[in-house]
Amino acid sequence: MKHTRYLFSIRTDNQNFQQLLSKELQYTGAVTFTKQTLTNSKVFEVLLNNKSVIAISCKMPSEFTSSVIPIIATNFKIDADFVDYINVTDNISQQFDKIVSKYNADIGFKVDSLKNEKKCNFCLNNNSNVLYEGKSFYVTYANDEIINSHLLIVPYKHINSISQMNLNETHELMHIITRLKKHLLLTYPSNKNFFIWEDSSKNIMLDIHTNMHIVSMPFEFDIDSLRRFSSFYLQKKVFYEGNFPTSYLIASDLVYEWNWYMVDTTGMYIPENYIRNIIAQNYE
Ligand SMILES: [Zn+2]
Repeated sequence: MKHTRYLFSIRTDNQNFQQLLSKELQYTGAVTFTKQTLTNSKVFEVLLNNKSVIAISCKMPSEFTSSVIPIIATNFKIDADFVDYINVTDNISQQFDKIVSKYNADIGFKVDSLKNEKKCNFCLNNNSNVLYEGKSFYVTYANDEIINSHLLIVPYKHINSISQMNLNETHELMHIITRLKKHLLLTYPSNKNFFIWEDSSKNIMLDIHTNMHIVSMPFEFDIDSLRRFSSFYLQKKVFYEGNFPTSYLIASDLVYEWNWYMVDTTGMYIPENYIRNIIAQNYE
């Protein structure tokens, strides 16, 4: 799995290059600083939010210098392996993306690329795999399922988070969850462990059509397992009638259907397919 919380320090001595770089390098899972905007406390805050720092021509706070990845940005080609560099006359973000993947870092999507992305697979619903159609939700098989019991509960409405549902929709959702649990138990009788989660909901800059993943598994995976493998603090929330908590990441092992666990910190970067990757990584 890719990691977050990296510190990229890009050095360039040209004022124009600095502006160019800070304009080009804007990502959902990173915060870009210049000398004028960077402070120790801001760097701490970025890391707390599970994001990375892209510092352009900054002196990095001394606490962090040992973990900084230095990059040089120039307008000529450096023929060397010992330093990462960006040629500012070429495609900047393409070169930066290469460096990012070399370090196996997850810094999210480029902010620019999001604006043109209007196509929504869940709205179109040209899905031939629909298992159930309710009043406000439909149920479908997950496209790239982790295991064959992997289903998705999708609202017809293009909303970013289940916390945006009204009372009736919430009731229907809970009803569908109960029915799917029974359905999965009948279909996969040896899979006794359930897990349900909302996929990177309300991810600030992403206008995603939310969907809930539900799986039944032959191996043990519960909230405590997630807590062990996760770098996030998952807070317990009890589901009351019509009061689905505001969520950025929410999950339940359905042992008690009214117990949900969530991360609700504004600005927290939740990697794409976070829980799916944790399950896949540890149990495949
Ligand atoms: Zn949609």
